[in-house]
Amino acid sequence: VRQTAGRRNERQNRPANFFKNAPSPKSNIKRKYEKPWIVPPKKEKKKAKSYLEYVYPDEEGPDADLIKSLEKEVILRNPNVSFDDIADLDDAKRVLEEAVVYPLMMPKFFRGIRRPSKGVCLFGPPGTGKTMLAKAIATLGETTFISISAAALSTKWRGESERLVRILFDIARFYAPTTIFIDEIDSLASKRGNGEHESSRKVKTEFFIQMDGVTSGTTSEYLEESKDSPSKNIMVLAATNRPWDLDEAIIRRLEKRVYIPLPKEKGRKALFDLNLKNIGLSDDIDWDILVDKTKGYSGADINNLCRDAALMPMRRILTQGRFNVKEVISMQDQFEEPLSMKDFLDALSNVNPSVGDEYLEKYAKWAFEFGST
Ligand code: ADP
Repeated sequence: VRQTAGRRNERQNRPANFFKNAPSPKSNIKRKYEKPWIVPPKKEKKKAKSYLEYVYPDEEGPDADLIKSLEKEVILRNPNVSFDDIADLDDAKRVLEEAVVYPLMMPKFFRGIRRPSKGVCLFGPPGTGKTMLAKAIATLGETTFISISAAALSTKWRGESERLVRILFDIARFYAPTTIFIDEIDSLASKRGNGEHESSRKVKTEFFIQMDGVTSGTTSEYLEESKDSPSKNIMVLAATNRPWDLDEAIIRRLEKRVYIPLPKEKGRKALFDLNLKNIGLSDDIDWDILVDKTKGYSGADINNLCRDAALMPMRRILTQGRFNVKEVISMQDQFEEPLSMKDFLDALSNVNPSVGDEYLEKYAKWAFEFGST
């Protein structure tokens, strides 16, 4: 009783103009400027063409510029890579369809015991097609595809990145079903945490909160449908060349971890076929030898090798003398001579495998310990 009386007294003692300048309870101006992401939408979601229009119909507000540039930069529209453009990797394609594509498209089926993984991580040496796989999912076009490099999160957007992570997930919710692709996830969630910058720790924490919210459905303040059936809306797909740097918290959240290894013999032959499909080839090429000599080459290395080989006929002609530009242009038909075995052998001495053996062991070890089968 005494307490209540005390409180009443306190209220009465306030100066007469105490409430004069306070925002009226109905006004959301103050809230808008403090926490733009929880402003109740002014426009129905269905009618808004973009997330920006949804939050700020007049395109003005404290985060408007950030939202605008994010929407422009991170939403990947038809990157034009199909699964057929990716040689080999049949298992990975199947796993991705099952773990990323279908759950977003058939949320009713992927419930309960069939609940999809919280997140999927592609790991393996650089240049093995991880980004291509992600882009192929974007090209399927059935879901919105948001792509951001974690390195950009902590450098380019530095300072704003915590807010940015939150906006990123809100954009994802707005355009759901959405796949969020985060490249170089190791630079966001590295276990070399000791000297870690305060701001990057905040980004990481925010990222985890958002990721957990994707599955528990608690973080969206206003998109009602994501509360009801959280997991159908957003899927996090990450990629890394340095899986051993990931900290335990992110490993746990990326429940499915798919190893994208260097191509084996069959894969290397498929890569040659794919890269050279529009190029004339002479009969003297021994594919078995080339496939054998490219052991340890990644898809990107084989791509470089083929590009180098494909320029050999031109180089051969041009080293026969000094030609001016006009002469070179007039000779271009001769440059299309079919490629020979020698062209590939010469190119092999120019292009070396980019992944060292010591790394391959590290990948295999990590795959054994943490990889999904
Ligand atoms: P990662 O993301 O694994 O580092 P990318 O997907 O960016 O590698 O691949 C880099 C380049 O290597 C591609 O642009 C492509 O030319 C080539 N490449 C790698 N793997 C494959 C593959 N399986 N099929 C076709 N091209 C590939």
